[in-house]
Amino acid sequence: IGWWASMPKVELHAHLNGSIRDSTLLELGKALGEKGIIVFSDVEHVILKEDRSLTEVFKLFDLIHILTTDHKTVTRITKEVVEDFASDNVVYLELRTTPKRNDAIGMSKRSYMDAVIEGLRNVSTVDVDFAPTNIGSRRMVNPAHVNSTCNGTMTKKIYVRLLLSIDRRETSASAMETVKLALELRDVGVVGIDLSGNPIVGEWKTFLPALNFAREQGLSITLHCGEVPNQDEIHAMLDFLPERIGHACCLEEEAWEKLKTSKIPVEICLTSNIRTNTIPAIDGHHFADLYNASHPLTLCTDDSGVFSTSLSKEYAIATAAFGLSRGEMFKLARNTVEFVFADDDVVRELKEIFALAAKKLD
Ligand code: 5GP
Repeated sequence: IGWWASMPKVELHAHLNGSIRDSTLLELGKALGEKGIIVFSDVEHVILKEDRSLTEVFKLFDLIHILTTDHKTVTRITKEVVEDFASDNVVYLELRTTPKRNDAIGMSKRSYMDAVIEGLRNVSTVDVDFAPTNIGSRRMVNPAHVNSTCNGTMTKKIYVRLLLSIDRRETSASAMETVKLALELRDVGVVGIDLSGNPIVGEWKTFLPALNFAREQGLSITLHCGEVPNQDEIHAMLDFLPERIGHACCLEEEAWEKLKTSKIPVEICLTSNIRTNTIPAIDGHHFADLYNASHPLTLCTDDSGVFSTSLSKEYAIATAAFGLSRGEMFKLARNTVEFVFADDDVVRELKEIFALAAKKLD
């Protein structure tokens, strides 16, 4: 892990509420348990993290959302999640989250996102660049990963960009609202749209108008695709030609060929797939096939809190499981820069960071 921890990395598939720290979850659980709002032992059970099916994972998220969905907590977990990724030497993080409305506490999708952005502003252990312009962000003039601060000490820097997730439980109108919100928030680093949530719930066609509109407006799109073997949906998603897809676990022969021809980059989440039993064992994971076919791919955490992982761990797991060298893995990390949704300036700066790291490696 040590070597992977010191290497710069790019994280493209991380759900905010899945990346929450165990200690924070416990603390929040205790507080709500004392108020009688939840049963604390349910939260403890979450922390124990036995392997669980995908369906059980979505039940867990319902519980996590009870604990986290108020403005102050959303701000707190955003700050902590960014700090955790930065301490793992993630230099660019595309963080995704589902804007939530809760009338009972005066929360709108917009105010939820304002709380997320406040969390980015509150990060204290690292400089955060989260906006494409100077508005609202602490963008550094010096593009290097390590910047000198005014007192002469060196501080780290992380680029953060946001994806707004549409939950498969949502209606067409609610999905459209999320896309419109994403457009409003481009100034503060929203770069794209994700479709996620329980894959056995909802239908592709419900989300298509919102996704088409997002595309027309220039937002990038990533879809959770093939977590369950619904071949019709998988084909429809691939035909849509999203900029990236997540998982791609249950593709039959024809869809598999379509994916490879399309060259759509795949966000691979090894631990998540194994822990949810979507893939029975790591040695049968489709990472190997895609890697050998030189298909564009990136290693990601998915839900580092819920699945007890980190991006360094994912790199270490892939290295061991597929017998790749450090050089090959470094190249994989470096190539991920090609698939980010941020603008060309950021891509250039990330390439510099990796060029610098490559020199150190030699
Ligand atoms: P949030 O969007 O609330 O910040 O993060 C948690 C949400 O992300 C979950 O409720 C779910 O909609 C989505 N999510 C997290 N992990 C997964 C996953 O492995 N598969 C799918 N399809 N959705 C996920």
